[in-house]
Amino acid sequence: MTREQALRKREQLTTRLSPAAGVLRGSLLQRTIHHTSGCLKCARGEGHPLWVLTVGYPGGKTRQVSLRPEQVPQVREAIEHYHQCKQVLEAISELNQFLLRLDREQSKNQERAS
Ligand SMILES: [Zn+2]
Repeated sequence: MTREQALRKREQLTTRLSPAAGVLRGSLLQRTIHHTSGCLKCARGEGHPLWVLTVGYPGGKTRQVSLRPEQVPQVREAIEHYHQCKQVLEAISELNQFLLRLDREQSKNQERAS
């Protein structure tokens, strides 16, 4: 890979990062809650499905956010977007690492030539 190829690839990757404002880290979980009394559904043993966003933090801490059913598609998409952005960032980082090494090689060669 040449410098020009690396720069072009990095440019392409950067366009895939937008809009980064829509990212969300975490995972979707579905739970069922059961009322103890006064609910026909729960009396039949059905319960109510409940969607939760679970987000892990360093140290094993997690935070849970209850979601309304209509929020689920948007949350699912935002989580997917987070993973895409992370992959793109990783790829850009690899390219920048390559460019760093390329710079180092070139300055070494110039030193030798002078
Ligand atoms: Zn119930």
